[in-house]
Amino acid sequence: MLTFSKVLNAALPQTCVLCEDRKAKSHVQGMCSPCLAQLPWRSSACCPQCGIGNNAAICGQCLSNSPFYDTTTALFAYFYPIDAIVHAYKYQKGLYLSRLLGELMAMHSTNLHPVSIPIDGIVAMPMHPERLRERGFNQSHEIAKIVSRALKIPLYSDACQRIINTPPQATLALKERAKNIKGAFDCANEIAGLRIAVIDDVMTSGASLNELAKTLKKSGAKSVHNWVIARTL
Ligand SMILES: [Zn+2]
Ligand SMILES: [Zn+2]
Repeated sequence: MLTFSKVLNAALPQTCVLCEDRKAKSHVQGMCSPCLAQLPWRSSACCPQCGIGNNAAICGQCLSNSPFYDTTTALFAYFYPIDAIVHAYKYQKGLYLSRLLGELMAMHSTNLHPVSIPIDGIVAMPMHPERLRERGFNQSHEIAKIVSRALKIPLYSDACQRIINTPPQATLALKERAKNIKGAFDCANEIAGLRIAVIDDVMTSGASLNELAKTLKKSGAKSVHNWVIARTL
């Protein structure tokens, strides 16, 4: 049987996805060390709750209107070439990139401050079944599978569902996004009492992650921590 991991392995590029250097030694699958070093890495000096700003203190926005999630860790700022990589991954079926992004998240999550909080379980940002049929895969779930394996933290694949097929958040103004996503998720009680890391690709307004955190906490999650590939600033 041709499993997903077999397809993934077959599709893995032997060269760096950015500079196409064939000889460069690579830290992670698919990218050479010099290119890795030049990615727009986020420093940990930002609001630990929402992941924005350049100051390692809770920001005014989080103080005045506290989100349901407890911490946010973003690997990258959503700049070139990360925006291009995420775009290729999601919209050009660049499934082999899930290995690269998942390995980067697993590798660096242990080094980043908020992630040193022990995590009991991982949940991927759920996709509505209709959207899943259109795209063929849930980009966050593919990354979450790799992170779960690498960090040996259980992945709760069926704990959260998207029960309303809302219009894509990217098509809406920032203030419309919270309204759009309200009530969109359903979470099972199996995550009750657990410290949950939610994996998503890009965090923009944080409205989807906040609604999911709210739903997870209603189902008894002890704490919720966003692990995202990139954060818009
Ligand atoms: Zn390279
Ligand atoms: Zn904040």
